[in-house]
Amino acid sequence: MAERFDVVVRSRRAVTPEGERPASVAVRGGVITAVGAYDSELDAAQTIDCGEDALLPGVVDSHVHVNEPGRTEWEGFISATRAAAAGGITTLIDMPLNCVPPTTTVAALQAKRQSAEGRCHVDVGFWGGLVADNLGELAPLHGEGVFGFKCYLTDSGVVEFGYVTREELEPAVAELARLDALTIVHAEDQRLLERAPSAHGGDYGDFLASRPPEVETAAIAEIIGLSRHYQARVHVLHLSAAEALPAIAAARAQGVRLTVETCPHYLALSAEEVPAGATQFKCTPPIREDANREALWRALGDGVVDCVVSDHSPCPPELKHLEVGDFGRAWGGIASLQLSLPVVWTHARRRGYGLVEVVRWMAGGPARLVGLAGKGALAVGFDADLVRFAAEETFTVDPSALHHRHRLTPYAGHELSGVVRSVWLRGREIDLDGPAQGRLLRRDDGSGVQAVRPSGVAQRGNSPPGSAPTLAAAAGDPTESSLFGSSQGPDPSTR
Ligand SMILES: [Zn+2]
Repeated sequence: MAERFDVVVRSRRAVTPEGERPASVAVRGGVITAVGAYDSELDAAQTIDCGEDALLPGVVDSHVHVNEPGRTEWEGFISATRAAAAGGITTLIDMPLNCVPPTTTVAALQAKRQSAEGRCHVDVGFWGGLVADNLGELAPLHGEGVFGFKCYLTDSGVVEFGYVTREELEPAVAELARLDALTIVHAEDQRLLERAPSAHGGDYGDFLASRPPEVETAAIAEIIGLSRHYQARVHVLHLSAAEALPAIAAARAQGVRLTVETCPHYLALSAEEVPAGATQFKCTPPIREDANREALWRALGDGVVDCVVSDHSPCPPELKHLEVGDFGRAWGGIASLQLSLPVVWTHARRRGYGLVEVVRWMAGGPARLVGLAGKGALAVGFDADLVRFAAEETFTVDPSALHHRHRLTPYAGHELSGVVRSVWLRGREIDLDGPAQGRLLRRDDGSGVQAVRPSGVAQRGNSPPGSAPTLAAAAGDPTESSLFGSSQGPDPSTR
C-alpha cells in the first residue's frame, strides 16, 4: 500500500539542489520525505499545486537584529518574525546586540530565549557576543548552543556592546579556534576610522568619505591573518568594499577558513542614487558607488562571496533624524527583512542570475555557514520549509504593507519582482495572524540531522535514486564545503 504523506506541494519551478525543475515535494512529520516528478501519484492529506509559481526552500537569514529584550520598541520577536515569514524567511539567527542585555553571557542568552519563547513565527537561533571582558563566557555560551560569536573592530553604535582592540581580539580568536566555534566580524578598523574625516551634514558623499574602503580592507587583512595563524573559522559580515575581494579570494585559495556575506542594500542600491539628507540609506559600512556594487555581484557569481543576508537593523524613525537629514547623527542601519528576497531576486535576474543562485546565496549558503544541515534545500531529509514565490509578478513597495515594527525603508516606491504567496514551516503553512509555530534553535540540537544520516535512512516514499542530500548539495557547490566549518553538520547520533 502506498505511503500517505501529510502534504504534497507541486511546482513547475521547484528549485532543488539539482536545479530548477518541475517537481513534487512530499512532506511527513515536518520533513521532506520524497521529491518526485511533478505529476507523480502521491497520496496525501493535502495537495497544493503551485503551477508556474516557483517553489523555494525557505530563506535562512543569519544576520538579523531583533533587539528584544531591552529595545523592543526598535523591533521585537513578534514583529520581526512576522515580517520574516511574510518575506519568505523561515529561519533567522539573531544578533547579540541592540538588545539589552547583549548576548555576551549565558544569563543574557537565557533572558533572550525567555523573551522569544512561543512568540516566533519562524525558527530562531542566536549568535553570542564577543566583547573585551567576556573571554571566560565564550566556552559556556558555545556549550549553550549559540551559533558563533560576533565582535566589532569599531564602535558598535550602542554603549553596552564595546568593540575589541587587536590585542583583545587575538586571544579570543585563539579560544574560539580551540572550540572550533565561528567568529563573525564587523570588519571596520577603528584607527583608520578615527583618521578619516568625520561624517556630518546631509551630503552623502561626505558620509562615504568618512568610511573609505581601506577601513574595511585593513580590518579584513587583520582577521585573515588571525584566521590563518589559528586555523580559526572566521566570517566577514556585511562586506561592502569591493577592494577587499582580491585579498579574500587569495586567502581562500590558500585554505584560510574564511567566509563572506554581503547584503541586499549593497547589491541593489548605490551611492549615486542616495538623495541629500536621506538617512534611511545610512548603514555601516556604507552603500558605495555603482562600480563597487557591480564588483560585489561578480564576486557572488564567482563564489568569492558566499551568502546574502539582510542585516535587518531597525530603529525608531526619530533616530534617523530625517527632519535634519544629518548622516553623522542618524542611526546606521537598514530595515529590510521582509523585502530581502524580492530585492535580491529583482537585481539578480537583471544580471542574468536565476533562482538557483538566489537560493544558494540566501538559503543553502547561510544554512551551511551556521551548521544547520537540515535547512536551506528542497531535498529529502531537510525540514519542509517551503516558499511559494510568484517570481514573474511585480509589486511596488508600500511601507504600510511591511510587518517590521517601523516602516521606514529606502526601498519605498521601488518596483520589485517576486511575490511571496505562501510559506510553510516544517510542513505547516504559516498564518501570520495565527499561533507562532517557530522553534528556538541551538547549534547542537540536532535540527535537521535527518539530512546527514547515511543514504537511505531518511529516504522514504518514491524519492528519486541518488537524491540523498549532502551538505555540499544543499548549497549546490561541492567544492566549497570545506570552507564551512570542520563539522559535517550536527552529529547524527545526537538525536
Ligand atoms: Zn548587523
